[in-house]
Amino acid sequence: MAARILDGKALAAQIRADVKQRVSALAFRPGLAVILAGENPASRVYVRNKVRACEETGVRSFFIELPETVSEAALLERIAALNADPAVHGILVQLPLPRHIDADRVLESVAPAKDVDGFHLHNLGALVAGQPGIVPCTPAGVMRLIEHAGVKLAGRHAVVIGRSNIVGKPQALLLLAQHATVTICHSRTADLGAVTRQADVLVAAVGKAKMVGADMVKPGACVIDVGINRLPDGGLAGDVDFEAARAVAGSISPVPGGVGPMTIAMLLENCLIAARRGAR
Ligand code: NAP
Repeated sequence: MAARILDGKALAAQIRADVKQRVSALAFRPGLAVILAGENPASRVYVRNKVRACEETGVRSFFIELPETVSEAALLERIAALNADPAVHGILVQLPLPRHIDADRVLESVAPAKDVDGFHLHNLGALVAGQPGIVPCTPAGVMRLIEHAGVKLAGRHAVVIGRSNIVGKPQALLLLAQHATVTICHSRTADLGAVTRQADVLVAAVGKAKMVGADMVKPGACVIDVGINRLPDGGLAGDVDFEAARAVAGSISPVPGGVGPMTIAMLLENCLIAARRGAR
């Protein structure tokens, strides 16, 4: 039997409607500053989608566009001003930054309470320690998709392919917090398929089109595809060979329409969380 499709677009729409309602109940309007430095066309599309989603939800967006040549000092100064601005509850710095800028230093300059991407070391540390903080949007969205699918995690084997600070590592920690037994794979993993075939829940966050084939999926597994890869014909593909894997998996998220929309929905939730905490 073909796998159940995990419709991230539909779930994200529900979450956005819920955030909109909770925003309208606030006595003030939450504000999100989105900083785009440079000319990366994909970044421009992502930022546009985020700004549009904010406006639809009642979150005020402050779009700050800086040239490719902006100095690190000028960017840090801009962030310091936003940290001090009471109308701004969340700050998002779109990655990648121009090459001459130290991205780590920039991310650390965002006030942790306004770090709606959850990339600041304070928030990553909170995640490691199981303390309240702001959780990175993409892994948080994956958890909501899994929860909504009714897939149990306690005692099951979850395998994450990818160990980046923004997806793979936080993903593994969130799965661990839900009592899964977690394995993290990466480019040096020997015999990747032998590991992924043990996964009751498999999360692919690699950036290699269709690299996870049906032969790497345990029958009945829940497969979540984080990858976004541009194909030579201009189309989009995930890290999972969707058509092949859906014949084996129990449930599977598509690309597009899976994790992508969930990421934006989680960003809006994080804005709301930051705004409520900031207003206290
Ligand atoms: P990244 O920083 O490039 O990390 C990729 C990870 O994959 C690394 O840990 C790397 O291992 C591992 N890897 C590379 N080749 C591998 C192989 N052959 N076998 C096993 N592991 C391998 O990427 P990222 O930022 O985590 O993003 C991953 C993907 O998710 C990308 O396609 C990105 O576009 C997508 N993404 C989607 C969303 C969304 O909203 N849907 C959000 C963020 C990212 P090493 O550590 O050993 O190099």
